[in-house]
Amino acid sequence: MTVVASVPPLSPGRYAFFFDLDGTLAEIQPHPDSVLIPDTVKKTLKKLVDYCDGAVALVSGRSMTELDHLSAPLHLPLAGVHGAERRDAAGISHATQFDADLKRRIASALATELQPLKGAHLEKKSAAFALHYRQAPQYEKAIWQIAESLAAIHEEIDLQPGKCVIEVKLKGSDKGTAIDAFMQEAPFIGRIPVFLGDDLTDELGFDAVNRRQGISIKVGDGETRAQRRLEDVSDVWKWLDNTVRQFKEIDAGNPEENRQ
Ligand SMILES: [Mg+2]
Repeated sequence: MTVVASVPPLSPGRYAFFFDLDGTLAEIQPHPDSVLIPDTVKKTLKKLVDYCDGAVALVSGRSMTELDHLSAPLHLPLAGVHGAERRDAAGISHATQFDADLKRRIASALATELQPLKGAHLEKKSAAFALHYRQAPQYEKAIWQIAESLAAIHEEIDLQPGKCVIEVKLKGSDKGTAIDAFMQEAPFIGRIPVFLGDDLTDELGFDAVNRRQGISIKVGDGETRAQRRLEDVSDVWKWLDNTVRQFKEIDAGNPEENRQ
């Protein structure tokens, strides 16, 4: 495992960047609504977007609506709800949706089961339900049992564990499939993918990047299949600064050749 200060010094035209949001670009907060990306970090991201001709995307468990809100005024390519929603660089949206009846039945079952677990929070997304227990860690086991019994009944759904959350989601999309989809499209195609993430859900993204001989970077502690590591969110911000500074130097050295 290598701790990294920036990407290897190649031209920005060689790279495509993918970032998880919570715990990677933004500090985790007790409640997800309090999370924000500092303006200075957004400005640096904007520079990265310009250097890489738009090959910068957010890949998160949040909905695309939330991602747009949190990253405004940037308007980036996005993968939300672990890849179930995606907006490509041309602005076209691709979405996997729950069957309306199935969604209603799952929502009702989860609401009933979680109701007695004080502090547990049910978040409904377009193609997933997030069962949060950050405020009620004593119910972790009970919540797992609820999710597992649902998954045993409905073969269309998959469980995705995260930090103090279990997501009940549709099978077939994850952060890896989202990165693969972007990598088949302009301006990502043909580039070296770089993905930074902090959570279990990011491991499938790391796998996708590793298969493409890209650069996978785990933020924080814990076992991972990523090749490299950054210590925490402030380390990610420094890494981003260094990467943009490096691109600036490369660009200044040979602007024509390096923007290709
Ligand atoms: Mg995260």
